[in-house]
Amino acid sequence: MGILLKTPNKLHFVSPLCGFADKVSALSSLKPQISQEFSKFGCKKSCFRGGSGRNGWIKASSSAILELVPETKKENLEFELPLYDPSKGLVVDLAVVGGGPAGLAVAQQVSEAGLSVCSIDPSPKLIWPNNYGVWVDEFEAMDLLDCLDATWSGAVVYIDDQNTKDLDRPYGRVNRKLLKSKMMQKCIVNGVKFHQAKVVKVIHEESKSLLICNDGVTIQAAAVLDATGFARCLVQYDKPYNPGYQVAYGILAEVEEHPFDVNKMVFMDWRDSHLNNNLVLKERNQRIPTFLYAMPFSSDRIFLEETSLVARPGVPMEDIQERMVARLRHLGIKVKSIEEDERCVIPMGGPLPVIPQRVVGIGGTAGMVHPSTGYMVARTLAAAPIVANAIVRYLGSEKTPVGADLCSEVWKDLWPIDRRRQREFFCFGMDILLKLDLDATRRFFYAFFNLEPRYWHGFLSSRLFLPELALFGLSLFSHASNTSRFEIMTKGTLPLVTMINNLLQDGE
Ligand SMILES: Cc1cc2nc3c(=O)[nH]c(=O)nc-3n(C[C@H](O)[C@H](O)[C@H](O)COP(=O)(O)OP(=O)(O)OC[C@H]3O[C@@H](n4cnc5c(N)ncnc54)[C@H](O)[C@@H]3O)c2cc1C
Repeated sequence: MGILLKTPNKLHFVSPLCGFADKVSALSSLKPQISQEFSKFGCKKSCFRGGSGRNGWIKASSSAILELVPETKKENLEFELPLYDPSKGLVVDLAVVGGGPAGLAVAQQVSEAGLSVCSIDPSPKLIWPNNYGVWVDEFEAMDLLDCLDATWSGAVVYIDDQNTKDLDRPYGRVNRKLLKSKMMQKCIVNGVKFHQAKVVKVIHEESKSLLICNDGVTIQAAAVLDATGFARCLVQYDKPYNPGYQVAYGILAEVEEHPFDVNKMVFMDWRDSHLNNNLVLKERNQRIPTFLYAMPFSSDRIFLEETSLVARPGVPMEDIQERMVARLRHLGIKVKSIEEDERCVIPMGGPLPVIPQRVVGIGGTAGMVHPSTGYMVARTLAAAPIVANAIVRYLGSEKTPVGADLCSEVWKDLWPIDRRRQREFFCFGMDILLKLDLDATRRFFYAFFNLEPRYWHGFLSSRLFLPELALFGLSLFSHASNTSRFEIMTKGTLPLVTMINNLLQDGE
């Protein structure tokens, strides 16, 4: 199905710019389909990226949502960036490739320790495009509460027309402009130099690496961090890349009214009565369900996102949009204008990169997306100090390990055995979710949100490790209905065997 081919990583893989023979050959058979997808999807503005247009308000009515395409107005931060001077031929301690949340967080922290850092990104001042939602406690733990621009005291899950679950856990939307500004400011104060370009190639020597950029500049660094998100430009994989895909279409809209409580965000709305008049769509939704995720900012301003939690191959974007239009019409939500839209394609699960390897990774590039939920931003920001400390420790020590040794130590700190086992369990969760139809998905989440909060909070926020995850699994099983238990057992046996196999193979 085409949507797989619209992901940024696929495009980067086949791009000659990145030029990694193994990756290209692994995907070369997909190339013709990519061009077909370009024409099929008409490639309107943000086809191949996470989000799009802000400030470009477009007048519209809800019956014409699919024609609502806000003007893409990329907003830049107003910073004077200290630039990297290639003529000096300096070898920086760390080159960070990619200026998303993951890359900037590490650049900031490594530079704070006095090491020299160069941050490379094609649009270093651009405000991040994605609409990030997080649990408030996750940001509170990192002292980042000031970087939330809206919070809700709780969330709600609509299981079906009869059953709802109130989640007593505050949720927030990240103020990405503020978060990026704060990180950039700290980077600038700490002496980080910026280079506006794309890295196309890396050449490793014993004690340093050379990064070749698409503007012809070469940057030399003792260590290289690949933080290019799902582009995964430099980090290498040695196993077939076979993730599931979360696909979503979201709009930040001005509406006449909406039916939701403005004090609660809608974490998942699995109701499907909006499809009663369209049996083809209803049947498709029964097989591969989508839900509504919504952040009501006020009675007439709301972020609405129709989401396929995970599917392999991913659900086509038009399908998602069609379901969303039907849902909004059924809910009586009349869209007056759209401020932003977001086309979201998140690869979930799949293999980890080769560990260790000469380039260090963090964030999307390093397999850090939660394989059962697609969330990552809080986990990545929490992992940034681990990566930064490891880099500082090894680069700053007297017996500085060179090149490969250094990277090997950093990878070990990023993916220790307990984290790898945890991820294996989350992939097991994803493999079960991939097999559940709408009714089974509803039964699953009914049991999931009936768990003690420490279990479902811990699962969603990657805070449970293997012994607790086993207890979580048992508890989920005991809360499940008999039908759900049967489904978990029949659909989960093969994934369970795979998980156990992988756990046994992955020694220290
Ligand atoms: C639309 C969308 C919505 C999401 N919403 C949420 C959410 O609500 N909550 C959550 O927890 N997670 C969410 N995620 C998942 C995840 O948190 C984000 O993808 C997050 O942006 C990943 O951060 P990152 O820094 O790893 O990569 P990115 O944010 O993708 O940043 C990568 C950077 O690298 C640059 N780059 C790429 N290639 C090169 C190159 N060759 N050379 C130099 N620079 C390069 C890019 O331009 C970009 O600036 C969402 C993802 C998407 C796509």
